[in-house]
Amino acid sequence: MTAPIVAVIGGGQLARMMTGPATELGVTLRVLVESPDAAAAASAHQIVVGMPGDADAVAAVLDGADVVTWEHEHIPAAVFEAAAQRGIPAFPSAEALAFAQDKIVMRERMDALGAPNPAWAPVHTHDDLDAFLAAHGGVAVLKTARGGYDGKGVRVVRSAVEADDWIAAAAEGGPRLLVEQKVAFTRELSAQVARTPQGNVVAYPVVESTQRDGICAEVIAPAPGLDPLLAAAAQGLAITIAMELDVVGMLAVELFEVDGSVVVNELAMRPHNSGHWSMDGAVTGQFEQHLRAVLDLPLGDVTPTAPWTVMANVLGGSREHLASALGEVPDSGAKIHLYGKDVRPGRKVGHVTVAGDDLEHTLSRAREAADIVRDGAPRRATATGGEA
Ligand code: ADP
Repeated sequence: MTAPIVAVIGGGQLARMMTGPATELGVTLRVLVESPDAAAAASAHQIVVGMPGDADAVAAVLDGADVVTWEHEHIPAAVFEAAAQRGIPAFPSAEALAFAQDKIVMRERMDALGAPNPAWAPVHTHDDLDAFLAAHGGVAVLKTARGGYDGKGVRVVRSAVEADDWIAAAAEGGPRLLVEQKVAFTRELSAQVARTPQGNVVAYPVVESTQRDGICAEVIAPAPGLDPLLAAAAQGLAITIAMELDVVGMLAVELFEVDGSVVVNELAMRPHNSGHWSMDGAVTGQFEQHLRAVLDLPLGDVTPTAPWTVMANVLGGSREHLASALGEVPDSGAKIHLYGKDVRPGRKVGHVTVAGDDLEHTLSRAREAADIVRDGAPRRATATGGEA
């Protein structure tokens, strides 16, 4: 039997991190990378260089593939059509992915499902926004429906004039806008599930994620002190969303915890930053699980392998050559993942994972390792100290 070929559209770190599990499973990973120096270009078994809008490149990546999947949401309809013409399954489907591509479409669907949404409204005019602000305490979160990531496309507003530029852009055919109540959350959670085309589903433990400047900085698995009933409810919600939206592959439901309940923030239909911990902290990591799901293989065991796993992102930093960090991180059990990307301020260039029995100790070791990778020295103090 020849190795199954999984085609992936998008050459960032998420595609890169599928390669290890693909190799282990005997799967050929063929990736459409945006440029020869994209993060996945150096790791994938086969690459095609091109953009998702380039029909020839898409044809090349699909040729002989068993299934095609995505590492980001920006997939043109033509890619789905090209896959359908060749009889290649595309997961998640165009219909499912629409709910991760567009926050208005997602909010409408969550309302229809009875899933917990914050108050929200579409915004076409200044009056729409001012009316929402007046009804919700004078402050709200304005978002572009499409194209946002890492907090770009999200703005806290107190008056419609603060949104002049976005409202003008939307009127000229730019991304549609929606406004949401500013949720007074106690923390952010993420509930990840995997689902196969036949409908088999598994749920990972619910994790806590901490954002800095709109970018995920740290994840703790499982979410400390989370009420088991709320954890089960969040997992159940993610399973319901996966089933109702017919998601195949990994689904992350980003949640706000507020007053002993959860509210949906957004959906991601792919491996997600909030699930990187599982590569080193669960029997089956999310990248292996995604491959298993889209190939319609039995799903893997999601049991954690340690009481606590902490993932800390390496965001930007002062090093030109991150690889030199490998010799400097003490042997503290930290697993280091570098994405082979150029360092730019705030850019996700890698992450570290530490697993352990004691949460505080595990957290401080993960932070210290991430700081050393980033800057060559721990910037924050460890368990006994505060921010340096
Ligand atoms: P992105 O698509 O860029 O990931 P999100 O919609 O996840 O954007 O928003 C980024 C961050 O902004 C969230 O992680 C959260 O911290 C904050 N945020 C988003 N929506 C709200 C909201 N309705 N209320 C309060 N904070 C919000």
